[in-house]
Parts: sequence; structure tokens; C-alpha cells
Amino acid sequence: MKYVFITGGVVSGLGKGICAASLGRLLKQRGLRVRNQKFDPYLNVDPGTMNPLQHGEVFVTDDGAETDLDLGHYERFVDETLTENSSISSGKIYWAVLNRERQGGYLGGTVQIIPHVTEEIKRRIYATTDDEADVVIAEIGGTVGDIESQPFLEAIRQVAADKGRQNVVYIHVPLVVQIPGSGELKSKPTQHSVKELLSLGIQPDILVCRTDAPLTDDIRRKIALFCNVEPACVIQNTTARSLYEVPLLLEREGLDEAVCRKLGLRCPPPDMTEWQAMVHSIHAERRCVTVALVGKYTALHDAYLSVAESLFHAGISLGARVDIRWVDSELLTPDNAPGMLAGCCGILVPGGFGGRGIEGMIAAAAYARTRGIPYFGICLGMQVSVIEFARNVLGWADANSSEFDPESSHPVIALMPDQVGVTAKGGTMRLGRCPCLLAQGSRSRALYGAEEIGERHRHRYEFNNDFRAELTAAGLIPTGLSPDGTLVEIVENPAHPWFVGVQFHPEFKSRPNRPHPLFRGFVEAALHLQEQEG
Ligand code: GLN
Repeated sequence: MKYVFITGGVVSGLGKGICAASLGRLLKQRGLRVRNQKFDPYLNVDPGTMNPLQHGEVFVTDDGAETDLDLGHYERFVDETLTENSSISSGKIYWAVLNRERQGGYLGGTVQIIPHVTEEIKRRIYATTDDEADVVIAEIGGTVGDIESQPFLEAIRQVAADKGRQNVVYIHVPLVVQIPGSGELKSKPTQHSVKELLSLGIQPDILVCRTDAPLTDDIRRKIALFCNVEPACVIQNTTARSLYEVPLLLEREGLDEAVCRKLGLRCPPPDMTEWQAMVHSIHAERRCVTVALVGKYTALHDAYLSVAESLFHAGISLGARVDIRWVDSELLTPDNAPGMLAGCCGILVPGGFGGRGIEGMIAAAAYARTRGIPYFGICLGMQVSVIEFARNVLGWADANSSEFDPESSHPVIALMPDQVGVTAKGGTMRLGRCPCLLAQGSRSRALYGAEEIGERHRHRYEFNNDFRAELTAAGLIPTGLSPDGTLVEIVENPAHPWFVGVQFHPEFKSRPNRPHPLFRGFVEAALHLQEQEG
């Protein structure tokens, strides 16, 4: 097994995740089996309970782990299914160590960061076996120098001692700063950051330097000399036109070549033909269509990262550029909807928790339903579409989800029986991949082109079967059910040009070269409406 560790320096937000994901794809295209992993220094056990406005979306894996959004980049770029062991926070590590201590697992010994915490970190790194992968690519979140990340850096230093230095590559991603005005590039912060790593016993092999301006030969030589890396291993990582161009830029710079050489991996150059073609269509002239994304975390677009990417992917395959109008659901009302949603050829309400902004989402669903505008409801967005239909078509004025109104006499969305009485917040929802059967003749069945699908879930509340018959009779049809028929996974309104609500999160399974069928169908419907309206 070979190990690639990626750390960041100078500042955060340099796109280490994209770098790790891009390298993963390049190595995969060289015929290697890769497994990406992310270590996060914060103490939360997982990102499941973290505020999306602070931390961005929670990405859910097939096996139901609530993970960092970088896992989404890994899955979209590398297209390999990740697991619970792919996203590990300090909290998860300490949780395991402390539980073991309580169970007497340390036999009365003094429990310490070194070796016990570092052993636990390495256990996660070594959990990937030779028959699963050839290369583990592990990204360490945060910036070198942070107190919290030190145990991770110590652990990855030890990996070289455990497994042999020739089997490990350390990649550091620093920022090369540019002086405002003169535009001169400066390498000093990079040098300092490498010095910091060296003080922890890690000599980086490769520097992937984030920079807006191309690195001059001069600065490249300087960085190589002062940081003790080969000039060929000073890789420039300039700002790309699109995220998906990054693997191509890094390949051109020789990143994967350097990694393979350092690790003694003999493999052919990556075949990026298909990826290249995809990037080509991203950069080609495309018609534009605007869709509204109505949610309460719209102030941080990363809170809906996978949804936005899925719309983007659907657009690529349809030769269209999807412009997202970010609509704050707290500001949307039935009265101002015509103005705020004017010009939108599709309305998407994504997932969310808590009652804030719900009435705005219901207004969006009503607007879409009554005006024949394509509507795509995801998880909470499906739930609000059911509430809207119950209120405005069936006339149940107090219809609601018991999440928002426990007293409603028409709780059309209600807690799942196994959730009643659950008070713990983390990891207690219906999580991960569940099977779903699609009804013959439904839109979903036609779009998926399959009878059985598996999609990822993350929610507590469900469509309430007490109201299923009346909602169905009124025209909101459950077209996707759990195999035993008890859980409604999809609702459709066949009287409407395109109205689909799904209880799961399709956005986690869209790939740039393989858009999700529901997103593709939604964007296609939006384009159709745009054409009709001229
Ligand atoms: N809050 C809703 C529930 O728990 C929807 C969750 C979501 O949209 N992910 O069921």
C-alpha cells in the first residue's frame, strides 16, 4: 500500500480537497485503485450536527456517514463510493480512545496523545487493505501550525517510519502571495509553512502552490531551494476556469507523474480523454437557463454544494448553463413570489431542518404548482410540497409537518415510529442508502430507466400514511416506495408539467460526466419551459 498525505499551509481555503480529489482521479486514470480520506481537526464527532451556514453541507455516504463536504468532491472527481472510514474528525478519534479507556482497553495505562491518539489515527489510515486499494490519499484539514491538527501530523509522520519512506509522499499546499500593486510573487509564507512542517518532522516531497499568477522560473527555483524539494516537484496550481479543469492543469504540471515516481509506481500516463471532453463542453458556449434555489442557508452557497454541482452536471449534458437564483426562503412570501421568482424556469427546494423559512418554501411550491413551473423538492423540499398540496388542494388549512407544528390536525409529514422519543441529535436519523421501487408509468421510472433504485437519506420525518389515500385521490401520487410499501420516497403530480418530490438526497450521486437522472430531467423541463416562453 502507498500513502499520499496532503496538508495545507499559510491560509485555509486553498482547495486542498480539490487537489486531493484531482490527484485521485489522475491516479485512477493511470489504472490504480485509490481511496480518498479526510481528517478534520475539529472536536465534533462528525459534521452531522454542525450549522451548514458555518461548515457548508453535510455529505452523506452510502453507508450513512454524515461527512465533510470534501467527501463530495472526492466522490464526484474520483467516482468511487466512500465510507464512514473516509471522514474522520478529532472528535471521532477521541471518542474512540475515551470509550476504549472506559472499557479498560488500556489496562490501566496512562492514555496519551502519543501513542494512543496517534495509534487510533493510524488505525483509520491502515484500515484500507491491499485488496481494496493501491493508494490511500489522506487530506489533513486545517492549516499546518494549528494546535488541533498536530496529532494528525504526528500520526502521518509515523506512517513513513511504519511503512517505509519510499511508500509515502507528503504533499503540501501553500499559498504563494502576490504583492498588491507590483504583482510580485513572494515565497516567504510558503517557506515558513514548510519550516513549520519540518519542525514536526515532515519534509514535504511535493509543493502544490496556489497562485493566481503563473510561477516564474525564478520563484520556482527559490521555493525548491529554500524548501528542499526538487524544482520539478514545485507544482503551480493556478486558478482554474472551472473546478473540473483542475485535474487537467495538475496533470500538465506533472503532479501525478511526480507522485508515481516518488512512490516507485510504474503505470501508464492517465487516460483523461473522457474528462477532457467533459471539460471542453463546460467551456463551450452554452444557452442559459435560470432556476431558483429556495432555502434558508442561501447566504453560504457551500451549504448546498452538491445540489449546485448536480444542476451544473445536468447542464453540461444538456449543453446548457444553469444559473442559480439563490432565494432566501425567509424573505419569500405568496405576495412577493411573482417578483422574486420572475424569470425562473424551475424551482428547487432542497433539504433543511427546523421551522425557519418554511412558509417561504411552501410559497415557492405553491407558485410552481399553480403556474406549471418545474418543481423539484428534495427531502424537506418534498415535505413542503406535500404540505402545500394538503393545504391548498385538499383545503386542510393547518396541514403541516409535526416537526414544525406538533398540534396540527393534519400532520401530513410526521415522525417515523422508531424516532419517537429519540433525543440525541448526532447520527440518529434515517441515514444512508435505502432501496426504492418506482411505479410503472411514473416520471421517475422513465427518468431512471430502472424499477429499483438506491438513494441516500438523511431525515427524521416521513410522509404520513394516514393521509396517503386522500392525497393520492387528489392527485399527488406516491410513485416511489420502500420495497415493503410503507415509506413514501417519491411523490409526483402528473397533472403538472414536471413536479417531483423525493424524500432522499439525489444530489450525492450526481457526477460531472454522469448527471443524476432526476436533475437532468428537471433541467430539461426548465429548458423546455424557457423555449415555450420564447
Ligand atoms: N427536517 C426534515 C426531516 O428531518 C428534512 C430533512 C432534510 O431535508 N434533510 O425529516
